[in-house]
Amino acid sequence: MLANIRTGAIKGIEGFEVSVEVDIAPGLPSLSVVGLPDIEVRESKDRVTAAVRNSGFDFPSKRITVNLGPAELRKSGTHFDLPIALGILAASDQLSANATQKLSRFLVLGELALDGSLRPCAGVLPMLISCKKLNKTAVIPPQNVLEGQVSAAPFITPHTLRELVDYLEERIDETAVKIQFIPQEETAPQTELDFSDVKGQALAKRALEIAAAGGHNVLMIGLPGTGKSMLAKRFPGILPPLTQEEALEITKIYSICNLMGKSKLLTQRPFRDPHHTISDVALIGGGSNPRPGEVSLAHNGVLFLDEFAEFSRSSLEVLREPLENGQVTISRAKETVSYPARFTLVAAMNPCPCGNLGNPLKPCTCTPMQINRYKSRISGPLLDRIDLTVNLNPVKYTDWNKHSEGETSAQIRERVLKAREIQRKRFAGTTTTANAFMTPAQLKAFCPLPPGADTILEAAMRKFGLSARSLDKILKTARTIADLEGSENIETKHLIEVMQYRPLDRKGVADV
Ligand SMILES: [Zn+2]
Repeated sequence: MLANIRTGAIKGIEGFEVSVEVDIAPGLPSLSVVGLPDIEVRESKDRVTAAVRNSGFDFPSKRITVNLGPAELRKSGTHFDLPIALGILAASDQLSANATQKLSRFLVLGELALDGSLRPCAGVLPMLISCKKLNKTAVIPPQNVLEGQVSAAPFITPHTLRELVDYLEERIDETAVKIQFIPQEETAPQTELDFSDVKGQALAKRALEIAAAGGHNVLMIGLPGTGKSMLAKRFPGILPPLTQEEALEITKIYSICNLMGKSKLLTQRPFRDPHHTISDVALIGGGSNPRPGEVSLAHNGVLFLDEFAEFSRSSLEVLREPLENGQVTISRAKETVSYPARFTLVAAMNPCPCGNLGNPLKPCTCTPMQINRYKSRISGPLLDRIDLTVNLNPVKYTDWNKHSEGETSAQIRERVLKAREIQRKRFAGTTTTANAFMTPAQLKAFCPLPPGADTILEAAMRKFGLSARSLDKILKTARTIADLEGSENIETKHLIEVMQYRPLDRKGVADV
């Protein structure tokens, strides 16, 4: 007997439909899975065997072949357990013709515990979204109910294999296999950390405001204790709210990585701060069973890399692709997978390996060669992709002791939102979302140089050894400064302000 059950799989962050064909033929008892299953899918054999038996069904002592189609696409995940188990029941006549007929309307996803109960699985949201397009109803584990609600696809949530079969055989009705709607929990405010907590550091705060307003990348260089991490952690609090589309995109990535937790639709911009000992694969994504990395988990949000120069050289180099294209492409033997990775990079580093260079109170114990080697870890091409570099000086006592508080995050955010609104209108109908991501044609159209600016830029190019890419970045950043001011055109003063944020170019130490 042959049975065919529909389920899903994921490529990149998109779901697609997979057919699970189960054939039972006379022969030595065996269960084989074909059609590019990865190790997780092959392991499902043992779980399915136990779950079928422990649910009170017979496990056929015959030769069972499971074929997953389309054959050319790799299938990974644990959610194939349930469709395989149902296929075996249908192919061994343990489901009535009626129930099998009913089952054809469903897309079935779920991992099975050995006792036949359903367990949560990763990547349910993208598969549900594809299910909606297919006009099918989904079967999902109860623990994945929030993703079901986000997808807006019709779904049921049986607790066990037995319960699902009872429903298909019409021994119980739909209310028994469907969790009632759970309202979205009120999310906590974006962050309780406020910019007014950080004393002094006006230049760094301004750089972060520009970064938030135009989607620019920032590098902060300063002595330990100057507030680099404090500032970075407060950065998400001045970013604009997520659009519905952006929220859905990030939620899909978190669904694939099984990081949904208790939230439904992620409503806050992600803030990821991986340690500098992170592996390339964990940072960028990939592996034998590819998963999105930190750069994709930071998509539409912030990637904070503290101790920037301590990251391995290869980690820093692999960052170049997402910084340039807003996505990462992972090539494997049979196929290529892409994950979105458009984040704002906020990086921080000490001025030297011992951290005391420029400290009036503690002597720096590094040799000039050590300092040079340390700074040169951030290569020229990587530095070219950072729009704003800012030096943080030790906070003066007078700043620290100030009774009047600095600006609050809410005040800064208001200006950021205004500048973003100008950009939204400017880029309406295009895929560009902020000044930092302008195409060459947009750069030409929206960033005409003010009179006399040619000479300034030419001099800067010669003096600081700027690349053509750096000049583009300068113009894009100047556009954002002009937007913050509500100025229609870029003016010379905006260009001059941008020049302040390139201290590494100026010293030339980072060019290797
Ligand atoms: Zn030092």
